[in-house]
Amino acid sequence: MTSPTDTPPAPRGPRNAPLLIAFAIMAAGLGAASAWPVNAPGALAGAMWRAGLLFAVMAVFLVVLPRHARLPMQIFIAMVSGGAAGWLLARLGHEGFVSDYIGVFGALFILLLKVVIIPLVFVSIVCGVAGIGDPRKLGALTVKMLGYYLVTTAVAVIIGLGLVTAIRPGVGQDALRDQTLHADSIEASQNLGVMIQRDLLPAVIQNPIMAEQRPLVVIFFALLLGAALAAVGKDGEAALRTFKSLDRALITIILWVMALAPIGVFALMARAISELGLQYIFTLAKYCFTVLSGLIAHFCVLVFIICPLFARVSPMRFLRGMTPAFEVAFSTSSSAATLPVSIDCAARRVGANRNICGFMLPVGATINMDGTALYVAVASVFVAQVYGIQIGLWGDLMIFLTAVMVSIGTAGIPGASIGLMSIIFTTVGIPLEGLGIVLGVDRFLDMCRTVVNVTGDCAGAMVISRSEGFPVGEGASE
Ligand code: ASP
Repeated sequence: MTSPTDTPPAPRGPRNAPLLIAFAIMAAGLGAASAWPVNAPGALAGAMWRAGLLFAVMAVFLVVLPRHARLPMQIFIAMVSGGAAGWLLARLGHEGFVSDYIGVFGALFILLLKVVIIPLVFVSIVCGVAGIGDPRKLGALTVKMLGYYLVTTAVAVIIGLGLVTAIRPGVGQDALRDQTLHADSIEASQNLGVMIQRDLLPAVIQNPIMAEQRPLVVIFFALLLGAALAAVGKDGEAALRTFKSLDRALITIILWVMALAPIGVFALMARAISELGLQYIFTLAKYCFTVLSGLIAHFCVLVFIICPLFARVSPMRFLRGMTPAFEVAFSTSSSAATLPVSIDCAARRVGANRNICGFMLPVGATINMDGTALYVAVASVFVAQVYGIQIGLWGDLMIFLTAVMVSIGTAGIPGASIGLMSIIFTTVGIPLEGLGIVLGVDRFLDMCRTVVNVTGDCAGAMVISRSEGFPVGEGASE
C-alpha cells in the first residue's frame, strides 16, 4: 500500500486544466475579499496581485512541485519559501493578508490532520494492544514505556536547568520586567479569511463520533478494548479484523491529507514568520539561545546516544526516516497533529514494530513531552532571574518535579506550555505577569520544542521495539 509520506507523482497533462481553473476562481475570490472595500485607493491592484500570488502558491504546491520532488523535499521547499514569503510580506506591511488569507491553507491542513487523530489513536491502540496479545507482556511493556518516558523527560529537564543556571540569561535584564508582550490574536480581526478559518472550516471538518473527547479518555478505553480483544482469543478475531481494516482506511485518509502538506506547511510557516516578532528574539536572544541549546543537546542525546545504543538504529537512518514528521511538527507546533505522520515514519520509514508504534506513539504524543518539560523549566528559572528571585536548590527541585509532572498532562497543541508555566510559577512563587516576558518568542520556541517532543516519542518506540526482541530497521522502506 502507498504510504502517507510517499505520495506518488501527481497526474500530468490536461487533467490539470479543471484544477487550475478552480484555483483561479478561488484565488480571485480570496484576493478580492482581501482587498475589500473595492472603493479604497489601490484596491483593484491589491486584489490582483494577491489573487495572482494565491494562484501561484496553489499551482506550485499542488500541481508543479508534486511532479518533480518527493514529499519530504516538497515540504522542505514549502518551509523555506513560506518563511521567506512571510518575512517579506510582513516587512511590506501585509501581515493581515498572510494570517487571514494565506493562513486558510494552513488551517485547512491542520483541521484535516486533526480529523483523523482521535479515530487513529483509538484504532491504532486497539490494534497495537491486541497485536501484542499476552496481558503480562503488555503490562511489562507499559512499565518499560512509562519508565523510558519518565527518565528521558527528567534528563531533558536536568539539561535545561543546568544550562539556564550556567548561562543565567535573565540576570541583569531589569528592563524586561516592565515589558508586557502579547501575541496578536486572530480573534482581533474580522473578515472573510478569518471567518473561513475560525467558523466555516471547523464547522464542517470535525471527527463526527468523538469530537469532544479528550485523548486520555480515548486512550484508556482503547487500551481496555485492545486487551479484552486479546483476552477473548478466537471470539475477538472478527472485531480485530475490522479494526485492522479501519486502520488501513485511516492511513488512506492521511495519504490524501498529506497531498496538502506542502501548501499547508507553506501557509503555516508564512504565518508563523510574519507573526514572529523578530524584535523580541533580539531582546530575548540570550534566553532563546539557552532554550535552543538545551533542545539541541536533548535532541542529540535522543538521536546520537539513545537510538544507536538502546535501539541499535543508526542516527542517519533515524534522521532520514523521521524527516517528514520533523517538518510537520516544526510547522504545525503540534505533536498531536503530527501523530499520523510520526506513526508512518517510525513504523514504515525507520522500521520500528507497527504494534508497538500503534500503542506507544498515541500515548507518547499525549503524555511524553521532553522538549516542553525542558522549555518550561528554562522559562521559569529565566523569569525568576529577571525578577531577581533567588529560587535556590529547593526551588530547582520543585521546578524539576513540577515540569516533569505537568508535561504529562499537556495536550500536544500549539502554545500548550503557556498554561503549564502558570502552574510552575504559582508553585515556585514567581509573579504570573512574568509570563508576558516570554510570550513574544513562544511561537518560535514552540516550533522547536515540538520537534523534540516528537523525537522523544519516536526514539522511545525504537528502544521498546528492540527491547521486545523485534528487529528495528529491517524491512523499512523510505
Ligand atoms: N506544542 C507542543 C506540542 O504539541 C506543546 C507545547 O510545548 O506547547 O508538543
